[in-house]
Amino acid sequence: MPHETKIVSGVEVVPLCDAVGPMGTHIRKPLPEMFPGGTFEEGEEWILHFHCYLLRAAGRTILVDTGIGGTGSPAASWAPVPGRLPEELSAVGVAPEDVDLVVLTHLHSDHASGCVGGDGPAFPNARHAVQRADLDWARGPMFDQVVAPLRDSLQILDGTTELLPGITAVHTPGHTPGHQTVEVGDLALSGDVVLHPVQLRDPSITYVYDDDPELAARSRMALLERVAVLATGHFPEPFTPTSAR
Ligand SMILES: [Zn+2]
Ligand SMILES: [Zn+2]
Repeated sequence: MPHETKIVSGVEVVPLCDAVGPMGTHIRKPLPEMFPGGTFEEGEEWILHFHCYLLRAAGRTILVDTGIGGTGSPAASWAPVPGRLPEELSAVGVAPEDVDLVVLTHLHSDHASGCVGGDGPAFPNARHAVQRADLDWARGPMFDQVVAPLRDSLQILDGTTELLPGITAVHTPGHTPGHQTVEVGDLALSGDVVLHPVQLRDPSITYVYDDDPELAARSRMALLERVAVLATGHFPEPFTPTSAR
């Protein structure tokens, strides 16, 4: 069942748990290599949760990130496909046709693959808001299997953009060139700006799979100054106060 809901500035924020599991062995590394400079327990394992978030505001239904996708998704080589997003949405009374807007924090396979189903967009009535910098950067299966089928429904963003009154896509580059957070009041749906709690304690700690680790660290520090609560992509609990630092 979905986690507990929050209401922030009149917007309902519903966490949806798409999957839980470790990374596939070919990209998994010991945590001190994943997060250089971080301190971990001996042999500590990183079990990722893969969260998406539903926002309901003013009669609109917005989905932020779409998870790891089905068995043939670009994430299948390293993530525990199939994702449970369709069941999670159904459990909160949302049909795929009900989604008006999908916001993709970035075009990594564990955040965007659930946008497409067997024969096209999984959310047939939705626009898909993506930063242009990520569209220009996406390659290979992410482009061919995810971006291309969405071509007619893309809402291409050039930097920070208010999507709906009080709901803003903020360009937070570094993890990918066009990474964006979705910010509502003092809460941010933070995608992969913060991947592991070690980066709350020390936001300068970088992640081995960041596209530009130094830029990602600057985006992370700015985000942690700007908001009070993170709704993260990969922490076990969906909501984390930034004061937990
Ligand atoms: Zn990512
Ligand atoms: Zn991720």
